[in-house]
Amino acid sequence: MEQSLVILKPDCVSRGLVGNVISRLENAGLKIAACKVMVLGDALLAEHYSHLTHLPFFPEIVKFMSSGRVIIMVMEGENAVDRIRALLGPTDSQKAPSGTIRGDFGLDKMRNVAHASDSGDAVGKEIARFFG
Ligand code: ADP
Repeated sequence: MEQSLVILKPDCVSRGLVGNVISRLENAGLKIAACKVMVLGDALLAEHYSHLTHLPFFPEIVKFMSSGRVIIMVMEGENAVDRIRALLGPTDSQKAPSGTIRGDFGLDKMRNVAHASDSGDAVGKEIARFFG
């Protein structure tokens, strides 16, 4: 049993895709262990996306990610980290295969519906970051 942190991004919430995305995850056998609604502030986003702060489009990401409500969830299941990343598909929605969450619902590189932890090491840090 493994946990992963998932963020349903502002595009997911504003476009009414939350139920669809959670269904995909639940249908794959993953369970919600914790869940809350937040509006993310600049400081938390700078920490969460610290690997991107040097990139020219970083301010756009912060603007997008703070533009509306997000749903933060801890999801658990066998091999949750890798399985959720596979269910999401690659970062660029345009390149994500159909059948993946980003391929079916995402719009572009930035508006790609959801975040999920990318490694077992990241999970603990991300859960602490968003749930304290
Ligand atoms: P992932 O979310 O797939 O782990 P990254 O950690 O590389 O991808 O990027 C974090 C987020 O920053 C992406 O999910 C996306 O919203 C945004 N992003 C990444 N690359 C780009 C890009 N080239 N242009 C616009 N937004 C991007």
